[in-house]
Amino acid sequence: MKELHVRQDRLEFNKLQKRLRRLVGTAIVDYNMIEDGDKIMVCLSGGKDSYTMLDILLSLQKTAPINFEIVAVNMDQKQPGFPEHVLPEYLTALGVPFHIIEKDTYSIVKEIIPEGKTTCGLCSRLRRGTLYSFADEIGATKIALGHHRDDIIETLFLNMFYGGKLKAMPPKLLADNKRNILIRPLAYCSEEDIIEFAEAKGFPIIPCNLCGSQENLQRQVIKDMLHAWEKQYPGRTETLFSAIKNVTPSQLADTSLFNFTDLQADKTAPIEAESDACATVETFVPNQGVVQFLDASDIL
Ligand code: SF4
Repeated sequence: MKELHVRQDRLEFNKLQKRLRRLVGTAIVDYNMIEDGDKIMVCLSGGKDSYTMLDILLSLQKTAPINFEIVAVNMDQKQPGFPEHVLPEYLTALGVPFHIIEKDTYSIVKEIIPEGKTTCGLCSRLRRGTLYSFADEIGATKIALGHHRDDIIETLFLNMFYGGKLKAMPPKLLADNKRNILIRPLAYCSEEDIIEFAEAKGFPIIPCNLCGSQENLQRQVIKDMLHAWEKQYPGRTETLFSAIKNVTPSQLADTSLFNFTDLQADKTAPIEAESDACATVETFVPNQGVVQFLDASDIL
């Protein structure tokens, strides 16, 4: 009986691993994230996401039809209690080239941000700056970050709800300094899969709350909202992600993305049967059954 369970668990794990590899591979191809001769600087925080990213990239590196280099980089921000030995030991055992950048951004943040205020904004800006210049120093052509599908969707809602902007977190991005290309190979992977994978692999996770910072409450609100939706309408998260990949600027209202000013009717266009602008249209949405839209243009 015990053997049967072990075999089933193994089977499930293989399926999960295959799925993650396939999704990462697809994202890499879709966005041309990795090219022949690239030197990828994989940013490792010691959390489940970055361990998973490194693991999957290393396995893809072995089978990819192109050659690329992987260098793992961790930034020791001198948070109290940061277990300095964990990542070097793990990476040495794996045989991956790595660097640990030591920079006491913790003290800078503590000095500048008043007690009780959230420190993540400044902390990540300082970390970003250091990582970008380090990428230049080691000649990395791409910087890989461990954000996944759910991070991307959460960011979309954060920007909409609190920033009044329709923007998320792209799978590939030219950094503000224009000198670095950031890639997010886990862009198609769900957090649920990553949690399961990290548990099964037994990664030596370093807790992310060593700095004592409060969790970003706004992000937590969005996370809870998305979890509740997913529970009520299974598949909604995936549908939301599809929406990010399927944008129609002419159906939004951004004048910089679509030229509304010069819209002209074409009287030579073939005449179609008239549609009732206020007609209700029913359509089938996977996992949500039949959904009613106000007008055909809502779904076209
Ligand atoms: S949780 Fe702590 S270490 Fe992480 S970004 Fe926020 S302040 Fe920095």
